Amino acid sequence: MPQPLARIVQDELLTGPRGPDGRHEIVVPRSWLAEGAWVEIPLPRLLSCALCDGGGCDRCHRSGAVTTRVQQMSTEVIEVQLPVGGPAILRLPRLGGLPSPGEALGRGLLLLTIRVGAEPSAGLRKLPDRASLRSVHPSPIPPHPRLKGTLLTPHRILALAALCLIVGILWWLRQ
Ligand SMILES: [Zn+2]
Repeated sequence: MPQPLARIVQDELLTGPRGPDGRHEIVVPRSWLAEGAWVEIPLPRLLSCALCDGGGCDRCHRSGAVTTRVQQMSTEVIEVQLPVGGPAILRLPRLGGLPSPGEALGRGLLLLTIRVGAEPSAGLRKLPDRASLRSVHPSPIPPHPRLKGTLLTPHRILALAALCLIVGILWWLRQ
């Protein structure tokens, strides 16, 4: 039976070749989980390697950590909708570690552990109710920059018009 395309894309993101996966943990009040709130999470630049849990493996070059962004970049803040109910681990594609230099891959997964506590983790912010919004994935793939507005620029329209004119004249001359 054919799978829906979105499902295939999602599976590819979760299981396909990618940068190293990283772990992060947040603590939220139970009430936030109960309502499936949207939260803003500042993502650390270094995450614990999900494969070795910080012990050091080939994937993280024995460092135990994976890097989510280059040093100069400002803090990355992600928006995630908490799963309604109890504690959980979310697998978020393209929010984990950067691939090694020279690897043409996307970022790995972010394995986000959500635990319940009296106080939310530092830096965590509950967003206003977004129930009216589409339940978008927290990491939409940015559009390819070169695909934007390249088809019909004014110059190309003009060139096309000139070409039509030339072809027209040639055709007329052959009559
Ligand atoms: Zn590792």
